[in-house]
Amino acid sequence: MITFYPGPSKVYPAVAGFAQEAVLSGVVSLNHRSSGFMDIVKETLRLLHEKLAVPEEYHIFFVSSATECWEIVAQSLTVANSLHPYSGAFGKKWMEYAHRIKPALMPGEADVLCVVQNETSNGTQVRMETLKQFREQFTGLIAVDAVSSLGGLAFDWRLADVWFASVQKCLGLPPGLGLMIYSPAALERARIIGDRQYYNSLLFIHENMEKFQTPYTPNSLGIYLLMRVLQQVPPIGTVDAVLRQRAASWYRFIEEETRWNLLIDQPEHRSDTVIAVLGEEEAIRAVKAEALRAGITIGNGYGDWKNTTFRIANFPAIDESEITVLKDFLRTYGR
Ligand SMILES: *Cc1c(COP(=O)(O)O)cnc(C)c1O
Repeated sequence: MITFYPGPSKVYPAVAGFAQEAVLSGVVSLNHRSSGFMDIVKETLRLLHEKLAVPEEYHIFFVSSATECWEIVAQSLTVANSLHPYSGAFGKKWMEYAHRIKPALMPGEADVLCVVQNETSNGTQVRMETLKQFREQFTGLIAVDAVSSLGGLAFDWRLADVWFASVQKCLGLPPGLGLMIYSPAALERARIIGDRQYYNSLLFIHENMEKFQTPYTPNSLGIYLLMRVLQQVPPIGTVDAVLRQRAASWYRFIEEETRWNLLIDQPEHRSDTVIAVLGEEEAIRAVKAEALRAGITIGNGYGDWKNTTFRIANFPAIDESEITVLKDFLRTYGR
């Protein structure tokens, strides 16, 4: 079975060996405050900076999911409330989580701008040029949900103060681990707010991370797998170039060689990592079932587009031969 599900998604095949390694070597039984484990955390952070080209002054910590980061932004980084210019289901959910914690009584007062860089639900993306405009126009902090693009696309990190992702999408790993990357300005804001009420308050995690530790017992297997995967992946610039070329090829292919339409009309809004394909409800149901019989999982639609789209992940762990299999299937399907 090959999978194009946009999360949880295909993991790198090498993860099987790395997981075995983690068990046999005893890594998963290490005390998380032991020097052996702290070395793994330290090396993983170093690799994230190196492979993803994260600026030196940006901090990184581990959490359990991206959803947790939505709450951390609201609890630890938002003074009054946050602004959420969203275009799909994840952006909307983030806003709902945030406003439960910091209700938007006076929208003009927003001090955090919350942007979903890649809206997984409908295959749209916010490009760096747009983020640059936000940066120029908005004086508060900018937080970016990059769950389905971090590890796949190259970012201009300094255009935002907070970036976060879960590892089960572009990083090609099993779910259960998230990471948050944040600027000195974000840390400064956290210090001003001084939130220390929760186990996942930013300052508390930050202080633990300075010792390469976490407040709670972390997902040690997940961190180890992340380290091993990062050791093998090319630098982000290389990954980015491959994915963009594959995305362009997917869009051309869907439009020119299949019976399907693209959900997003304007090319500049189309995601490079999640391709959303539009069709009649019955046809969408049929193609997914037929693909499954052919050994291919394609992604269901999500939210408002649940029944009228299917989604194709364009993540780094998927290889060229698998893409060929799906293209061959879609080319001949229904003819
Ligand atoms: C998958 C996804 C999330 C949620 O990630 P979790 O790991 O379930 O917390 C949030 N935002 C976007 C854009 C996503 O694609």
